Amino acid sequence: MAFTTPTLSIPHLAKGKVRDLFCLPNHPDTLLFVASDRISAYDVVLTNGIPNKGVLLTQLTAHWFSVLPSLVPGLKHHFLNLGAPADSGLSEDERKAIAPRSMTVRKLKVFPIEAIVRGYITGSVWKEYEKHGTVHGISVPAGIKQCGQLPGGALYTPSTKAPAGEHDVNIHPDEAIKIVGEKYAKRIEELSLAIYKAGAAYAKERGIIIADTKFEFGHDLETDEVVLIDEVLTSDSSRFWPLDTYEAGRDQDSFDKQILRNWLTEKELKGKEGVEMDEAIAKKTAERYRNAFTMLSGKTIEDVLKTDG
Ligand code: ATP
Ligand code: MG
Repeated sequence: MAFTTPTLSIPHLAKGKVRDLFCLPNHPDTLLFVASDRISAYDVVLTNGIPNKGVLLTQLTAHWFSVLPSLVPGLKHHFLNLGAPADSGLSEDERKAIAPRSMTVRKLKVFPIEAIVRGYITGSVWKEYEKHGTVHGISVPAGIKQCGQLPGGALYTPSTKAPAGEHDVNIHPDEAIKIVGEKYAKRIEELSLAIYKAGAAYAKERGIIIADTKFEFGHDLETDEVVLIDEVLTSDSSRFWPLDTYEAGRDQDSFDKQILRNWLTEKELKGKEGVEMDEAIAKKTAERYRNAFTMLSGKTIEDVLKTDG
């Protein structure tokens, strides 16, 4: 059964497409993130979920927060702990029910851009490149094949962070400067590229190509630092391809929701509300999410549910 976030006995701050955010009355500078099993594609949430997907996302994000600081000097992030604290105001049953899929983070002011980094040309960007020879309006050398690697191995291609119900729009990095200001835009770009490069190298050693990914950053108003927030390098926020079958010039098999995207496109359901995934698509997607988690973290879902559940 897919998990739906329960009504908890603490204030509910916001419901995202995948996560619910709660306030912790005893910790006003902290938020409780609870990842549901909901899945979205093309900005629309499907009516059925992927069992344990929220556990996999939370645990993979926690794994990255434990390894990234040693790989990216100077990196600051929002992660505090897995689960809800004992003095969260939640009952033992509530804490247990959300344990493996929840985490506490520092509450920060979110910069209103999506910091996308691409190592390879695919998806909507492949179409732009084929037509205009550009990626988010940035000129890119000719001759790159579909799913081919970008020169230099990484390109920073931000988008707007649209309010709920609206679509994010790809923008040129100069446009991001106009939105958040030069000082923060430069730091976001620098950090995004460094985190992507470190994460991609780590993943490659474990058999996964991170084709592209999206980061979010927050502003620590006390120290004026740019801080990595949200989920990090998961199958929801990234395109993961198996290294062993990778070949440029064609679509790649993948460890993310590409199966679901392809199915929606094929059935002409792309962007439609109220769609239920076929059982077979849900099952395949679940398996991909589990495989990516195990390859990257060295743990299985059973390990996690045993210790935290
Ligand atoms: P969005 O498009 O705004 O990301 P979403 O539907 O993707 O919406 P979720 O990812 O499900 O939303 O929920 C997470 C939300 O929490 C996002 O809006 C994200 O910007 C926000 N967020 C992440 N980390 C923090 C943080 N440390 N402090 C405050 N807000 C945060
Ligand atoms: Mg999000």
